[in-house]
Amino acid sequence: MIESRCGLQCSKCGYREQMNCGGCCSIDKPFWGEACPVKSCCEEKSSEHCGQCVQFPCDLLTKFAYDEKQGDDGRRIEQCRKWNLP
Ligand code: SF4
Ligand code: SF4
Repeated sequence: MIESRCGLQCSKCGYREQMNCGGCCSIDKPFWGEACPVKSCCEEKSSEHCGQCVQFPCDLLTKFAYDEKQGDDGRRIEQCRKWNLP
């Protein structure tokens, strides 16, 4: 069961209750802005998550995953790989 487009684990996210966020797969736009480029890109490709994309892990996803403030040292990329396992 996937939890996000980019590989973040929404079930472990503090904003879930704080911001009453339903998780990025079940909301039209993120609470923190008009759009998330990763979510939009993934959904435009009709992919469930980035791991299903031929460009995975693309520069955009890598930039998000290794961002100094918002990143997670690439853990979301590893999570996408796990979601791809049979
Ligand atoms: S960064 Fe974008 S793709 Fe990742 S969980 Fe948040 S809204 Fe979804
Ligand atoms: S891996 Fe990159 S190109 Fe592919 S869906 Fe995700 S954000 Fe878009």
